[in-house]
Order: sequence, then C-alpha cells, then structure tokens
Amino acid sequence: MKRDYAVIGLGRFGGSICKELSSEGMQVLAIDADEDKINEYKNIASHAVIADSTDEATLKDLGIKNIDHVIVAIGDNIQASILTTVVLTDLGVQSITVKAQNDYHEKILNRIGAHQVVHPERDMGIRIAHNIISNNILDYLELSDDHSIVEVKAGAKMGGNSLVQLDIRAEYGCNVVAIKREGDINVSPAADEVIKEEDILIVIGADKDISRFEKHLV
Ligand code: ATP
Ligand code: ATP
Ligand code: CA
Repeated sequence: MKRDYAVIGLGRFGGSICKELSSEGMQVLAIDADEDKINEYKNIASHAVIADSTDEATLKDLGIKNIDHVIVAIGDNIQASILTTVVLTDLGVQSITVKAQNDYHEKILNRIGAHQVVHPERDMGIRIAHNIISNNILDYLELSDDHSIVEVKAGAKMGGNSLVQLDIRAEYGCNVVAIKREGDINVSPAADEVIKEEDILIVIGADKDISRFEKHLV
C-alpha cells in the first residue's frame, strides 16, 4: 500500500507536521518509539506505529521506501536522527526532510544525503526578530544567505508618492513585487502606482539594500 508521507518523531514539531498533513487530507504514516505518542496520534494519522527508526529492518518492513516523502523530526537525540537518515538514504527513499538541532547536525545531515534540512527554532527566531525590530515590518522570508523578501506597511514617508517618485529600485536596489490594499493584491504594480499610507508592500532585495530601504522609508 502506497502512503504519501511518513513523519518520524512526534514531538511538537513532528506532531504539528503530522496534524497539518492529515488535516489537508494527506496519507500520513506516523512513527515514534514512544507508545504514548502513538496512542495520541493513532486517530489523527492514517497509520501510527511504535518503532525505533534507527532499525533498518523495521523501516524496511514498514515499506518506507515506497513513501514519497519522509520527515525526520527527532530532536534531542541527534545520534538517532543521523542514524535514521542514513537508513532512509540506504533504503533509497526519494525525498527526506530532516530537522536539525544545531549547525553541526545540519552539516552532517547534508553530508549524509538528507534532501532538505530544516532548522525551525533558528529560522523562526530570525523571522520574529525581524518582525519585532520595526512595527512596520510585518513578515520576513529569507531567500538565501543575503537576499530576502519582506512585507512592510507604508507609512507617512511613502504615502501619496508613486513608485517612480520614490525611486525605490534605483535608490535602494529593491523591487516592490506586490502591493496589498484593503484585501486586494496587485502583483505587478505599475511605476506610476501611487502608494497609500497603510498599504502593504512586498519587497524583494539584498539584505543590505532592504535594510537601507527600511531605515529611510519605512
Ligand atoms: P520538539 O519538536 O517538541 O522540540 P524535539 O525536536 O525536541 O521535540 P524530541 O522530543 O527529542 O524532539 O523527540 C521527538 C520524538 O522523537 C519523541 O517523541 C521521541 O520519542 C521520538 N524519537 C526519538 N528517537 C526515536 C527513534 N529512534 N525512533 C523513533 N522515534 C524516536
Ligand atoms: P529550543 O528553542 O532550543 O527548543 P526550548 O524552548 O526547549 O529551547 P529550553 O532549552 O528549555 O527551551 O530553555 C531555553 C533557555 O531558557 C535555556 O538556555 C535556559 O537556560 C533558559 N531558561 C529556562 N528557564 C529560565 C529561567 N527561569 N530564567 C532564565 N533563563 C531560563
Ligand atoms: Ca526541542
């Protein structure tokens, strides 16, 4: 039987992935070594099994290699996380996402063939830090080490001016890719679009440019 997803480790992170995938109607195989966790998820996931994911034979018996995407969300036990990832790559799982606990862990996971490594505590920390620096920075998404997308609320400095008048691209090297206004979103604003105070601008650029833009105009 082919299942779409497997989540290994049902802590807060893995548990929330499992719940969300299930509520989106996906088939989810939930795996945890802890019986209490499995009891908690047996009515949420399509299947929930008590198993030690570092044991290759067990994962093989569960048919893990036929699952499209496996998420390893074992946190504190870094050794178990690494071993599980090795077993999954050995079994030829197509797509493996692993939660890293720290930068060393992340490095090893990349080295041993995890397809995607996530670092939710660090990334959420970065995001929240940006949100709280300014009341006008509503959201922040890191695209690479030095490029991001931010959502900013236009204040008095921008209100009443067009994109050309503000000369954002030339002055700050950033692009306004969309403007949200009263529930509508304009995804390709024209140069003569006049910004109103309270508009939400979605801006893409290099971090250093976005930061100059924030300082001067937001
Ligand atoms: P949180 O997401 O809450 O921060 P965490 O990332 O700190 O959790 P842990 O609580 O350390 O993660 O582990 C998550 C789950 O992984 C636990 O429920 C634990 O039982 C399970 N787990 C740990 N090792 C194994 C293993 N070898 N096989 C299966 N499950 C395991
Ligand atoms: P993570 O974000 O890595 O998952 P966590 O949410 O599991 O962390 P802890 O590791 O339990 O949180 O605690 C985070 C930090 O808070 C630790 O460095 C700990 O020393 C500190 N801390 C906990 N309680 C207190 C306290 N009463 N006063 C000051 N610091 C505290
Ligand atoms: Ca944790």
